[in-house]
Amino acid sequence: MPRFSKRAGREVLEGHPRLPDWITKERVKLGDLHGMKAGLRDSRLHTVCEEARCPNRTHCFTHGTATFLLMGEVCTRACGFCSIQSGRPRLLDPHEPAETAARVAALGLRFAVLTSVNRDDLPDGGAAHFAETVLAIKRRNPGVGVEVLVPDFLGDLDAVARVVAAGPAVFNHNTETVPSLYPEVRPAGRFERSLRVLAHAKEMGKALYGEAFRTKSGLMLGLGEAETELLTTFEALAAHGVDILTLGQYLRPTRHQLPVKRYVHPDEFAELGRKAKAFGFQAVYAGPLVRSSFNAHEVAEMEGISIA
Ligand code: SF4
Repeated sequence: MPRFSKRAGREVLEGHPRLPDWITKERVKLGDLHGMKAGLRDSRLHTVCEEARCPNRTHCFTHGTATFLLMGEVCTRACGFCSIQSGRPRLLDPHEPAETAARVAALGLRFAVLTSVNRDDLPDGGAAHFAETVLAIKRRNPGVGVEVLVPDFLGDLDAVARVVAAGPAVFNHNTETVPSLYPEVRPAGRFERSLRVLAHAKEMGKALYGEAFRTKSGLMLGLGEAETELLTTFEALAAHGVDILTLGQYLRPTRHQLPVKRYVHPDEFAELGRKAKAFGFQAVYAGPLVRSSFNAHEVAEMEGISIA
């Protein structure tokens, strides 16, 4: 049974490897959060930040960034690292795009990240709903940047094009781990398919918005991956046009998910980050607490990016 450990500042599992000091980095300064949290709580919108008890909330909230989970809380897949409920999702809420845009305005965000469960039950995997939400946010909040963290739409490239055409600043799709671990970590995913999704998004985005359009992907470490395979994975992502890479520590949400094989030391993260950068990524964020939408707002400062 998970319990809240004051020392770790988060839930830990009885009998599970003790969290290393570097994971229990900084306590969430509640003072900064109250306004944000109140705003988030009184809406029906689900934010990943709160629900996942993300260790970076202070950082992101103080930079005017938050992540919203679209299309409900039931996923059509069951990845080994994820505690989201799997099963038959509900019908899409047609009001969600406008309500998300209103919430972005109410919270005064500079940057919004939209993510979702997998909706393999929908003909387009939810691509139209993503596109409508991006457009609604941009209409209601001119100048606010949007990152979409999308599923693989079962490799449907028209669905990918539909999302890109809505004009997010960043198209993010996580490859999550190295190909050899897919059977246990991401059984319904396909590494090659994810590469095609990212490459098509880059091609479409470049054609529509020029060099300013960014693609992004992320990996979790500590699931048993070998460094040699990590390096070939970095190489494949860079070769498919990915601009931004995130590398973070896998943390076991509950005892029902895959165990942590090891905690990667911050020095090793830094070294892997340097090695990844050598493959030509524009930005690499590597560290134990780095998450997919970490520093999403920073893309706005990248040279030549227009987020509007
Ligand atoms: S597809 Fe995403 S939401 Fe669904 S189980 Fe996998 S990680 Fe979780």
